Amino acid sequence: MKVILPDSSELELPEGATGLDAAAAIGPRLAQDAVLIRSNGDVQDLRLPLQDGQPIQILTTRDTDDADALYVLRHSAAHLLAEAVRRLYPGTKIAIGPPIENGFYYDFEFPEPIGEDALEKIEAELQRELEEGRSWEREVTSAEDAKKLFSEQGEDYKVELVDTAEGDISLYTQGDFTDLCRGPHLQNSKPIKAIKLTGLAGAYWRGDEHNTQLTRIYGTAFFSQADLDAYIERLEEAKRRDHRRLGVDLDLFHLSDHAPGMPFWHPKGTVIWDVLEALRRRENAKRGYVEVRTPLLYDVDTWVTSGHWEKFKDNMFLVPYGEERTLGMKPMNCPGHMLLFGNALRSYRELPLRYAEASALHRNERAGTLHGLLRVQQVTQDDAHIFVTPEQIEDEIFGALDFAAYVYRLFGMEARFELSTRPENKLGTDEEWDFTEGALRSALERRGIDFTINEGDGAFYGPKIDLHMLDVLGRSWQMGTIQLDSQMPARFGLTYVGEDNAEHTPYVIHRALFGSLERFMGILIEHFAGSFPVWLAPVQVRIIPVGVDHRDAAAELAERLDEFRVEVDDSDETVGKRIRNAEVEKIPYVVVWGDKESEDAIAVRTHGGEQSTKSLDELVAKLRDEADVS
Ligand SMILES: [Zn+2]
Ligand SMILES: [Zn+2]
Repeated sequence: MKVILPDSSELELPEGATGLDAAAAIGPRLAQDAVLIRSNGDVQDLRLPLQDGQPIQILTTRDTDDADALYVLRHSAAHLLAEAVRRLYPGTKIAIGPPIENGFYYDFEFPEPIGEDALEKIEAELQRELEEGRSWEREVTSAEDAKKLFSEQGEDYKVELVDTAEGDISLYTQGDFTDLCRGPHLQNSKPIKAIKLTGLAGAYWRGDEHNTQLTRIYGTAFFSQADLDAYIERLEEAKRRDHRRLGVDLDLFHLSDHAPGMPFWHPKGTVIWDVLEALRRRENAKRGYVEVRTPLLYDVDTWVTSGHWEKFKDNMFLVPYGEERTLGMKPMNCPGHMLLFGNALRSYRELPLRYAEASALHRNERAGTLHGLLRVQQVTQDDAHIFVTPEQIEDEIFGALDFAAYVYRLFGMEARFELSTRPENKLGTDEEWDFTEGALRSALERRGIDFTINEGDGAFYGPKIDLHMLDVLGRSWQMGTIQLDSQMPARFGLTYVGEDNAEHTPYVIHRALFGSLERFMGILIEHFAGSFPVWLAPVQVRIIPVGVDHRDAAAELAERLDEFRVEVDDSDETVGKRIRNAEVEKIPYVVVWGDKESEDAIAVRTHGGEQSTKSLDELVAKLRDEADVS
């Protein structure tokens, strides 16, 4: 048979030859350095047979910047990580370990939580593995044999993965460690010249907050130390932007063990919060949402009805009530909104009914998984539940997408949309899912949105659209979500009287755009590196009177600018020191008022040091323009 090489030449090979055979036929060096076969944009393990007439490209250890080559390198590194963790922490269960942008992760269920300090030890074990050297063997097996293998090892997650796997079950073995994996993988660990663990985080099994929370270890690997060094430099920049550090430096918030994972917002942080809250209310009102307020605590029966008791009990804070009852603090607003809807007889004329509420939610997260504002136990979602008839679904999804696009553009973040379709454990018939998925898809298409499809990743009660944002450092954050639900209204027995005078169960759309406001604040702090645009900045203008004699004039100017967030710094520090302080606090505009200043000539410094002279009218016009949120 023949395969086609990138220069269009043909390579003759015996029937059943693999990618590695093709490399060897060209030269021993190529066979040694080969990492992957790429064919029509797909990646293929070197160990797999090629097809007659297949176009192939052989990627090698010299393709150090190639995303596919890095993927296979990092995926192999993830397997080394799992091997190391299982050796160091007996009893740990392994879940999944895919390569991701910039690195890889592996999710584990540790018998005891581990801290960041454990990473060094694990990294040393990885180095040891690299020095010993590993090579990967690929084998195809039956689902029964794979399940037997993994149940003997107590690897419950792998057993579950075998159950839901499609196609051939393949295993990759390195040393005494075998993982369930589609591949592709490196031939051996030699190309991994640099490996580093970069952090820890909590992650739910299968990304579903109703499931067990696992510990995710992040790492990265490169074909050279120099590449790793450059990457670390980029990470340093991320560290400089770390919201936990900037939160202290800019006096925005703090976290304390008095209330674990529940932020204390300082006055300046509260200003930003309130700007977001005002934006949320204003845009909701414009788009026909109504604000509601529902209780924080509900009888356990309510949570049984909603289904949270079954799936989410371990993450709920419970409060004893009287002798016999228990109340659960709401981890989500949905049940409250269901009860509100069900409080009256509803007619189709009231639909769509859009309830919005951003109240505090509480989620009992496992110790060791809290992370600044990014993972907290008190969560404030910009939540909404839209009750609709089937005919209204598409328009309402369209409206929510339009809203999302507006919000993300405001922050200069690029949004990415992902449509998740029917999962294995779906409720309802395929016809119903064809209809609901179709409605989401046409809303996305009508809005002209490019989206990716996450096959099988929808909630069991309906398909969803997840919204991700890319920040300035190119990091992707999952923000909001738009979920279509046909189940919860039925569980609460909700109905409306239709045009036909018969009772129908409404659909509900769960919708959050910022996602959690706490998390969103954390992301914003890092995205802007604390240098907020004027409309978000806690202090928009600081006036610095040069001497004692200028204090009255400074106070008067502050009054003239009172439609903005203005402060006067008349402390006894030198002018230079006060300007530096304003610079450190990242205040967008600083006005220095001395003998030469007047309403016609005001010395204005922007954050970053640019200076100009403006009249009061010019300054006001500029501020008005930049403080406007629209
Ligand atoms: Zn794998
Ligand atoms: Zn909801």
